[in-house]
Amino acid sequence: MQKKETDKKMDNIVSLAKRRGFVFPSSEIYDGFTAVYDFGPYGVELANNIKKEWWKAMTQLRDDIVGLDSAIFMSPKIWEASGHVKGFSDPLTECRKCHSRLRLDSLLEEFGIFADEKMGEDEINKIFEDNKQKIKCPNCGAQDFTPGRNFNLLVQSNLGNFTGDWSKEPTYLRGETCQGIYVNFKNVIDTARVKIPFGIAQIGKAFRNEITARQFIFRTREFEQMEMQYFVKPGEDMAHFEKWRETRFNFYLNLGIKPENLKWHKHENLVFYAKEAYDIEYNFPFGFKELEGVHARGNYDLTQHSKFSGKDLSYLDPTTNEKFIPHIVETSAGVGRTFLAVLSEAYKEEVIGEDSRIVLALSSKLAPIKIAIFPLLKNKPELVEKARSVFDELKKDWRCEFDDNGNIGKRYRRQDEIGTPYCLTIDFDTLENEEVTVRDRDTMEQQRIKISELKKFFSEKF
Ligand code: ATP
Repeated sequence: MQKKETDKKMDNIVSLAKRRGFVFPSSEIYDGFTAVYDFGPYGVELANNIKKEWWKAMTQLRDDIVGLDSAIFMSPKIWEASGHVKGFSDPLTECRKCHSRLRLDSLLEEFGIFADEKMGEDEINKIFEDNKQKIKCPNCGAQDFTPGRNFNLLVQSNLGNFTGDWSKEPTYLRGETCQGIYVNFKNVIDTARVKIPFGIAQIGKAFRNEITARQFIFRTREFEQMEMQYFVKPGEDMAHFEKWRETRFNFYLNLGIKPENLKWHKHENLVFYAKEAYDIEYNFPFGFKELEGVHARGNYDLTQHSKFSGKDLSYLDPTTNEKFIPHIVETSAGVGRTFLAVLSEAYKEEVIGEDSRIVLALSSKLAPIKIAIFPLLKNKPELVEKARSVFDELKKDWRCEFDDNGNIGKRYRRQDEIGTPYCLTIDFDTLENEEVTVRDRDTMEQQRIKISELKKFFSEKF
C-alpha cells in the first residue's frame, strides 16, 4: 500500500513535469533515449535558478572561493591518475531469464540487504551468494543471475583519434567535474591571489554509463554537477569538513526543504585515501537517497596528479614558508537531484471546497516565473495594452509571463502548477484607478495595488 502511494506521488510529479514543460524524455519523437532527459521552458528556468543559488552561495557571498569552467574533454591521463580508468565502477549482474542488467548493490538494497557500491567485487559477491534465495529480478521475478562483476562507468569517445580503432586509445567524457578543478589548481594559485584555505567551484556536465537508470532524473547518464573543492592545510581538514557539512545542509533548508526531509548518511566503506565521507540524503518519493556528498579526501587528488604529470602541485605558505600538498574537502551536488528534490518538496494537491488544485509551492528564489500578468479579457485592446505596459515594466526586474488565454480561473491553475508566486490581473477598474489585483499563490488571497507601487511591493516580497 505504502509503495503504491509513493509510486503515485512520483507518477504525478513526472506527469506534471512533462505536462507543464519542466522535463521531457530525450529524443522522444524517436521513442526516447534511456536515462537522458531534456529540461523544457520552465525546467531550464528552475535548473538555472538552482545553479544561481549555488553559485551565489559559493562564490558571491564568500571571498575564499573562486569559480572555474573547465572543458568536458581532458587528457585521458587525468582519468588514469584519478583511478577512474581502473576503478570507477559499479557492481553489475544480469538476470539470466530476461537479460535485465541490474546494479547489484541497489538490487540487494531493494531486498533489505546492506551492500555498498564501494565494496570490492569479492565482498559484494559473497553477500549476493549468501542471500540468493531472497532476491528476485524486479522485472521478471526470476532468481537466476550471473555473478556480479565490476562495470566501468566512464563514457568513452573517439575525440582526436582518426585511426579507426579508437577503443585502444579512448578519450573520455568527464565522469565528474572535480578533476578539472584539481588539474587547474596551480593555474588558480598563480593567478587568483588565493591563499589556503580556499576553494574552487565549478558547475558542469558529467557523464556516466549508469547500469540501472530508473527513477526519472535522479540517475541519468548525462547530468550536471555543482562541485566545490576546498584546499586546506594538512591537519586542519576535519575542522573545515565539519563546517562544510553544516553549510551544505543549510543550503537545502534555504531552498525551502524541510529539515525532516533531509538526513545524513555516513559512509562506512571508504575508499582507501578518504578520511571521512557523508552524504546528505533527501526523502524522495522513493525513499531517502543521496543528494550531495561531502567528503574529506586527504591529499590523494593532488598527489596523484603530481605523480602522473610530473609537475609539483605543492603549496608554499607565504607566511610560514611551509611547503605541503593541500588536503581537500569536497562538496559535490547534482543539479538534477536538487531539481527533483525541490519539485517533490513543493508538489501539493489541495482541495478547495468542491474544487481541487495542484500547486508547486516553490521558494520564490527558485520559481521559474515570479509574476504572471493577465488582462481580464483578451479581446479588449485597452486591457491588453495596459497589461502589456505593466508586463514591459516588471520584466526588467523579474522573470514575468504574459498570459491572455482562457478564463482567469484556468490561468491561475496553470500558474499554480508551475509555481508562480504572484498573478496580476488588469481589469476595467484598472483603467479608472490604476489599481491591479495581485493574487498570492499559497494563500490565494487577492489585494488591490496601485501600478506605481508594484515595484516596491515585489522588491519587498522577493
Ligand atoms: P550514487 O551512489 O547515487 O551513484 P555517487 O556517490 O556515485 O552517487 P558522486 O560521485 O558522489 O555520486 O557524485 C556527486 C553528486 O552528483 C551526487 O550526490 C549526485 O547529486 C550527482 N550524481 C551522481 N551521479 C549521478 C547521476 N547518474 N545522475 C544524476 N546525478 C548524479
